[in-house]
Amino acid sequence: MKQRLSILGSTGSIGVQTLDIVAENPDLFEVTSLAAGSNWQRLAEQAVRFDADCVVIADTSKYEALKSALAPYPIKVFTGEESLRQMVRSSEVDVVVNALVGYAGLHPTVAAIEAGKKIALANKETLVVGGDLVMRMAAERKVPIMPIDSEHSAIFQCLAGECSPVRRLIITCSGGALRDVPAEKLADVTPEQALKHPQWSMGAKITIDSATLVNKGFEVIEAHWLFGIGGDRISVLVHPQSIVHSMVEFDDGAIKAQLGTPDMRMPISYALMFPRRASRPQERFSFLDHPMLTFAEPDRAKYPALDIAYDCMRRGGTAACVMNGANEVAVAAFLGGRCRFTDITASIEYALERAAFVASPTLDDYAASNAESRALAEEYLASRR
Ligand code: NDP
Repeated sequence: MKQRLSILGSTGSIGVQTLDIVAENPDLFEVTSLAAGSNWQRLAEQAVRFDADCVVIADTSKYEALKSALAPYPIKVFTGEESLRQMVRSSEVDVVVNALVGYAGLHPTVAAIEAGKKIALANKETLVVGGDLVMRMAAERKVPIMPIDSEHSAIFQCLAGECSPVRRLIITCSGGALRDVPAEKLADVTPEQALKHPQWSMGAKITIDSATLVNKGFEVIEAHWLFGIGGDRISVLVHPQSIVHSMVEFDDGAIKAQLGTPDMRMPISYALMFPRRASRPQERFSFLDHPMLTFAEPDRAKYPALDIAYDCMRRGGTAACVMNGANEVAVAAFLGGRCRFTDITASIEYALERAAFVASPTLDDYAASNAESRALAEEYLASRR
């Protein structure tokens, strides 16, 4: 039987590549519903092409345009956050692919878990913000959360079939677009420079997060929640070639790694098809094309966000939620030309120093903490103008 997919964030980088996998495997998957933020044209095209039953557009001002575009087709059109939650709860859905960006991904993940849906999770902010709550809920309801993030997919693949203790997770890191820019020049970096990721073509927010290493810090937190491993046993290694996607070291000293060309369709298809693998004959890797695989320590002074993330993970509660909220605001400001690159990490520090801390947050506490951290980041950025 085909798996019926609900794809949240279908118009983005991960969403489009998920639809590539669906198109390559029409006998395995069908699309029930799609959701996007504001790109109603692409959403309409996708809905028609993949014969979706229903679409949700978050930006209510785009609802009428989307509805008119889809008027000739039997596709239901909705808008708003509650519609997104209803969409994932539908009895017509087997798997929810959460490829939303940012905090917006948390509540739909929770709705999907409540409805007992298998989740293929790209939206790392879900676990950064609410990993404690989300993983507890998923365990209680026996809902599988399959990682799409390439590092976590790599770790998941290394762990498959193992039952012995893990000594350490080693998360690899390309170093981002500014790897070779000296620390003293970071304040003058433009959005165009920071958006030029050397290996991966991704959405704007994660590309900037890669340049600040916020993304790597978030991945450490994500790995902590997904695999139940303490931060002191998760390390980060800079690996500029992005061929080794991450590694697991076991108690006997053996290290398993997962390697391949950087292409998100591999981890996406693995999340959807596990325990099987996709047949992708076009994928060919030659070690001879990559004779040099190098590894180095990250420069923690140049990228303070990495240690801030470790610290948030140790503090638990709403700390990482505050880091995420402030980061979202500052990244949007940087992309809009309203602050400097270095203000991103400074906004996070400002918010973390001032935000209320809740040790055992509920979903409502996360929402309040997200709102507070965003306001604090705005306050910091306003003081810099
Ligand atoms: P993009 O910015 O490319 O896409 C984000 C998607 O979410 C778009 O479809 C966007 O719609 C939609 N969206 C944004 N806000 C809302 C909202 N409030 N309600 C509904 N839809 C919304 O992001 P990516 O695909 O790059 O990343 C998605 C997630 O996957 C992130 O958490 C990222 O960290 C993670 N990830 C991404 C990787 C990659 O290679 N891209 C790799 C590993 C993880 P619209 O197009 O209309 O704006």
